[in-house]
Amino acid sequence: MENKFCYKCGYIATSREHVPPICLFPEAKDVIGLNFRKDLITVPSCDEHNSKKSHDDEFLMVSISGIVGNNLIAYLQTQTKVDRAIRRKSKDFLNKEIIKNYKYHTLKSKTGKKYPVLYGNPNYNRLVNCFEHISYGIYFHEFGERFEGTIKMLLGFIIYNDKNTQTMTEMVKEKFIVDEISNEIKGENPTIFKYQFFEPDKFGLIGMVMTFYEGTEVFVAFQPKNSDEPFDLSLALLNSGIPTLIEVGDKIFEFNKK
Ligand SMILES: [Zn+2]
Repeated sequence: MENKFCYKCGYIATSREHVPPICLFPEAKDVIGLNFRKDLITVPSCDEHNSKKSHDDEFLMVSISGIVGNNLIAYLQTQTKVDRAIRRKSKDFLNKEIIKNYKYHTLKSKTGKKYPVLYGNPNYNRLVNCFEHISYGIYFHEFGERFEGTIKMLLGFIIYNDKNTQTMTEMVKEKFIVDEISNEIKGENPTIFKYQFFEPDKFGLIGMVMTFYEGTEVFVAFQPKNSDEPFDLSLALLNSGIPTLIEVGDKIFEFNKK
């Protein structure tokens, strides 16, 4: 039954879709002797929601593989598959589609090795859209049913211009770390992709963290269709602009700093 209908819209499924996209997992020719494509997750998909038809998979691959903090496999991926993808494109592909107003910088590791990195403004909405698709897919894979409701997310690798959003991201990270009732970390190729679900909170919100290349974190909150709108005092204070301190574990996060 569950394999006949699309993970995203519930229409008749015509194929299976990889979540996350298969291109994020290094090809055998780029990592001789290693296999990062063991037991990849697939979900049933209709024509429209199979992203093979769009350029989003490649966009996501180019956008996240080079993120600072990722592991060496991601670095290898940027030097091989991502590099080939960029070379196939026009000269302004990076600036137009991936990261606006970018500049090259060189980071030095503790051992003195130099890494070229790009700084700039990523295509945030398109990134969120990609991660949303993956979230729907992983939810389907985990629970065997389509998620209906609203998905909210924070991207752990972005430095938000808005101070409150940035503090919120840091707080969410901390909350995920100190939350004791969490499920096991899953993913057959954890150096490329792993995920973890958290028990629903008092509002029925289900938390999930997805980690790509051991350094790129995406925090997701699934709010089911019929659940109450989350409300608590700290959120109300936060939205009102009143300076607010919120304690998570042994850390304090300051919002609406004057
Ligand atoms: Zn669909």
